[in-house]
Amino acid sequence: MGKKVAWDYIVPVTLPVSLKNVQPGKLHESLLRSIPQGGKLHYLAADAWNAMVEAAAAAGVELKPTSSGDTYRSYDKQLAGFKQRYQLEKIAGTSTKSFEGKTWYLKRGMAMLATPGRSQHNLGLAIDVHSASEKKRINWLIANVEKFGWSWEVVPSEPWHIRYVCGDEAPQAVKEYNARNPKDAPLYGTVSEQKAAAVVKANTPPPNIVAAKGKSDINIGNRGTLVKEAQSLLTKHGYVCKSDGDFGPKTSARVKKFQEDRKLQVTGTIDSKTWAELLGEVCC
Ligand SMILES: [Zn+2]
Repeated sequence: MGKKVAWDYIVPVTLPVSLKNVQPGKLHESLLRSIPQGGKLHYLAADAWNAMVEAAAAAGVELKPTSSGDTYRSYDKQLAGFKQRYQLEKIAGTSTKSFEGKTWYLKRGMAMLATPGRSQHNLGLAIDVHSASEKKRINWLIANVEKFGWSWEVVPSEPWHIRYVCGDEAPQAVKEYNARNPKDAPLYGTVSEQKAAAVVKANTPPPNIVAAKGKSDINIGNRGTLVKEAQSLLTKHGYVCKSDGDFGPKTSARVKKFQEDRKLQVTGTIDSKTWAELLGEVCC
């Protein structure tokens, strides 16, 4: 009851090489591994978690996540959770977060939550431990998190939230666990293979940029299949157009609105930058 916990172990996260060019909340399946208690973690964090669970069990302490949603969280899941807890309408005296250029206010009675893409849950490195502050469990964690490569992030207010901090260099206790529990093959190659893959990825333009380079500019008055394609892409993004292959004033207006919303130069001409946006992901 208001008693101070005797721990303040916070270590900055060393990012595994395999996460260097990864968008938080959009991890490829090959980087994630299911854990026995439900949910998924980055495969290095999963090893460290499984090793810690085994050691805790041997000491009579059960470790499991508060729910499977409190392991790896996709961007969309984090966004949904964020919008459940924060609102745009002002609330006096509450804590705030800035997201998408706006100030969001924490609703009364809600616990804080990281903004989408900013949580280490979005990297598969964080897990929330069920009943973490229960005396036997917290004492075991205080004595052992470091050994298995974990630390807290916000103490003492979030005793449940721990993150794997050791990057590619697993602590000895985890290496020993891995040696006792060999896997078929590392999910994502060796560290040097991951480094090479990260470099290639950083130097490879995304497919929408490549595709955009092969398209000519189109403008009002143009007709044909390219116009038709642009119209159907505009519709896909929510800027509804009749796909009649005729670049008329209505299509032009949609293009201008799309350019404005995507912070492009508002010209009404579909140039390579606009093509790249049209060929890219649908947002919002
Ligand atoms: Zn958490």
